[in-house]
Amino acid sequence: MAVQTQVKTYLNYVNGEWVEASTNETISCINPANKHDVVGNVQKSGKEDVDQAVAAAHNALASWKKLSGAARGEFLYKAANILESRADEIAETMTKEMGKTLGEAKGETLRGVAILRYYAGEGMRKTGDVIPSSDSEALMFTTRVPLGVVGVISPWNFPVAIPVWKMAPGLIYGNTIVIKPAQEAAVTAVKVIECLDEAGIPAGVVNMVTGTGSQVGQAIVDHPQVNGITFTGSNQTGKAIGQAALARGAKYQLEMGGKNPVIIAADADLDLAVDGTISGGLRSTGQKCTATSRVIVHEDVYDAFKEKLLAKVRELKVGPGLDGETWMGPCSSEKQLETVLSYIEKGQEEGATLLYGGQRLEAPETKDGFYVEPAVFENVESGMAISQEEIFGPVLALIKVGTIEEAIEMANDVEFGLSASIYTTNISHMLSFINDMDAGLVRINAETAGVELQAPFGGMKQSSSHSREQGQAAIEFYTSIKTVFVKGN
Ligand code: NDP
Repeated sequence: MAVQTQVKTYLNYVNGEWVEASTNETISCINPANKHDVVGNVQKSGKEDVDQAVAAAHNALASWKKLSGAARGEFLYKAANILESRADEIAETMTKEMGKTLGEAKGETLRGVAILRYYAGEGMRKTGDVIPSSDSEALMFTTRVPLGVVGVISPWNFPVAIPVWKMAPGLIYGNTIVIKPAQEAAVTAVKVIECLDEAGIPAGVVNMVTGTGSQVGQAIVDHPQVNGITFTGSNQTGKAIGQAALARGAKYQLEMGGKNPVIIAADADLDLAVDGTISGGLRSTGQKCTATSRVIVHEDVYDAFKEKLLAKVRELKVGPGLDGETWMGPCSSEKQLETVLSYIEKGQEEGATLLYGGQRLEAPETKDGFYVEPAVFENVESGMAISQEEIFGPVLALIKVGTIEEAIEMANDVEFGLSASIYTTNISHMLSFINDMDAGLVRINAETAGVELQAPFGGMKQSSSHSREQGQAAIEFYTSIKTVFVKGN
């Protein structure tokens, strides 16, 4: 048990200044590898702080949107270089704050750098089309205009990448930002904002207010001068945000849960499939919206696949993310650990067989952290909670099927439709899967997680609303189309 001697308190960022919240309250961010370790304190802000941040973003809008895309891009290039130079320090903060391994945290931070550079370049690309007019003396074209002030509500599972992939397109297309990062990973988010500040982004263009979702998040969602809200998190919160935004006519974008399947066909390369299932399902302790959770295996290879999978899962080392030997870190919080343990219990109550793991680690060196062994179930029926609900933890459910058609039907039998993958060497199976799988991301011989930043990201059914994030698809949410008709006189 380590007791903190000096814990740094981080401030809000409003109108280009680092400021205390009006409430004089703070929130402690706890290390999930050791709950006695306070990583930092952040402001526990209130509505007044949101009002000031939105006012600053509103005032900054006119001059920011007047800049050329190239000029706005310069700030993103500078921020990318600063984030890159601080990647080791920020990755370490991320690992301490939300538990993922240092390697994953570094990879995520460098992804943030790449996203900033990608969108800096977007400032130089076309944002409209010329459309032939039926009047031969007229010119008709479309151009894109920013939404205005965009509220960003981000989760704790990717505390660098998600804020960056929401802010960077917002900024390059001329919007100003008010962000509320998840309180569980707010120190990491503060450091991302420091990079934008050090890059000299003009006052008011980016504002950050930390605090709870129910206070700060809700105040952003309800603010009449916030023109668009982009959210990633749970379905429950996402739907409530969507309804509130709709009620006052604000644009919204919701990225929510997944219950992502992997299908292992009888002709699959089993070693590849085992590696993809483990990486897709258990990396980041299963705390990804694209994490594999249902493993649908053809009966001809079921036993062989299961043995290979269990042999590898048994070898995974669970421990603190800062330890170089660790493959899987703790759950991000006590609440998250309890959710995972409750699903493991429920799976057994509902009649599934727990083949491996699922126990909390309670050795002297792990008992103060939120550690759980990866869990593998079999005899899982489609109606069970572990087969239908997003667990957001290291839990794999094996499901045996007799045909590819049955596998795809089973894969589609959930309310979510974010990511899905198949391992097969048969081109007909690949094509059936591409055509019939109801998911925004379909992946062949690749794990469900790990979409590249330049490609559209988002789901079908209850996983996402409307538009896509990332790549050039992001322009749909962050802009409106203006149709221009010009006739000489
Ligand atoms: P939430 O959806 O509650 O949180 C996501 C973000 O929304 C956080 O910043 C949160 O603030 C904020 N928020 C919460 N309530 C409101 C509100 N009324 N108005 C505006 N913003 C709000 O998810 P949790 O962190 O509680 O995680 C619960 C479950 O959600 C997980 O187990 C997982 O299943 C799912 N999840 C999915 C993610 C994904 O990538 N799709 C990411 C994270 C979670 P704060 O937490 O600071 O109070």
